[in-house]
Amino acid sequence: MADPEPFPITEEVLAAARRALPLGLCPECFGRLFGRLGHGLTNPERAARLVAAVGEAPAEPVRPCPGCGDAFARLGVWVDRAVAAADGFEWHRFTCGSRWEPELLATEEHRWLTVGSAWGESVRSAFNREWGKAIGARTGFDGGPERPDLVFLGDLPVGRVEVTVMSVYVRGRYRKLDRTVPQTHWPCRRCQGRGCDSCQGTGKTYPTSVEELVGGPLVEASGAEGTRFHGMGREDIDARMLGRGRPFVLELLRPRRRSLDLAALAPEIARRADGRVEVDHLRPAEPEEVVRVKEAAPEKSYRVGVVGPVPVAKVNEALLLATGRAIAQRTPTRVAHRRSDRVRARRIVAVRLVDATDEGFTLEMRTEAGTYVKEWVEGDGGRTEPSLAALVGVPLKVGYLDVLDVHDTEGE
Ligand SMILES: [Zn+2]
Ligand SMILES: [Zn+2]
Repeated sequence: MADPEPFPITEEVLAAARRALPLGLCPECFGRLFGRLGHGLTNPERAARLVAAVGEAPAEPVRPCPGCGDAFARLGVWVDRAVAAADGFEWHRFTCGSRWEPELLATEEHRWLTVGSAWGESVRSAFNREWGKAIGARTGFDGGPERPDLVFLGDLPVGRVEVTVMSVYVRGRYRKLDRTVPQTHWPCRRCQGRGCDSCQGTGKTYPTSVEELVGGPLVEASGAEGTRFHGMGREDIDARMLGRGRPFVLELLRPRRRSLDLAALAPEIARRADGRVEVDHLRPAEPEEVVRVKEAAPEKSYRVGVVGPVPVAKVNEALLLATGRAIAQRTPTRVAHRRSDRVRARRIVAVRLVDATDEGFTLEMRTEAGTYVKEWVEGDGGRTEPSLAALVGVPLKVGYLDVLDVHDTEGE
């Protein structure tokens, strides 16, 4: 350790130390009364220097210590409790917090006043630090505020350690090749997921989802208790997600294992999904990426199969009018339960006719984020203006929809 800075023992400090001698505090709590004086010293070291400077022996420590209830003397027990609470979890980084009897904290502030110390350090912050150092010394793991795997909470009055296991985040892109699979699992509306006759006891509206197909192997590999799926937007259940796929972050809740062989898991996900879902670019992610993925508003490309007998020339004429133009879309009734009902301005960036038959035609188009493509084609009873149906003057219906690309800018 580097040489500690000079410890400034002024008359004021000496007088305060003299008043603290008879209190029967443990060396940690005695030194902590002056905890914000000098650097590079432990509180017991501070206590020893002050006792030497005063030249009088302190009173025999009272048990349990009135400053900490012997928490510092029993630090080893608290390390045992933390290690036991963490048993079965893979961890490398951790932080410590603690809960104390409010009276003990109030007594501490009162003691600072009676002793006349303006340099006291709170028992909570000192305990959190010393406990963390002791856990680090025992385990070789890294205590610090940066990205902990585990957060220990010492409940001092109860004598218990609670552990919070931080989620593991995995980022990737998924392709969905099946028109019956929703992105996330939908609890059955009738039973709220408890299981009833209408869902055959599964508690789910659909048998499976991208979340479950992607998450299954990751849950098994990590021993997690569940998942949260954060997609960069979502496609309709009956739309495929093709091309490079859609970015997502999968959050694994209370994982037992954190070191995952993601390279091996991607093919395993595809194998078990049996052609319904594929993933790639799997990599570990940071928690902040959830917000970035959810808030991104990239343009999307679609292929749309449209049913409706319209001459090619008429379609091309309408597309010319639509390209690069703003449209006004009132929230479709089918999503009104999760979005507020208002009119949004959206833009058709590009659209072209790919092929046509007597019964219908196929479009490829690129739109601004949040455009309701089905409603733009069909008109949604006048809620989207202008719609393609209005432009060609014939009722149209979307036969199928595929998302060809999500044009996010993160270059994956
Ligand atoms: Zn103490
Ligand atoms: Zn049900």
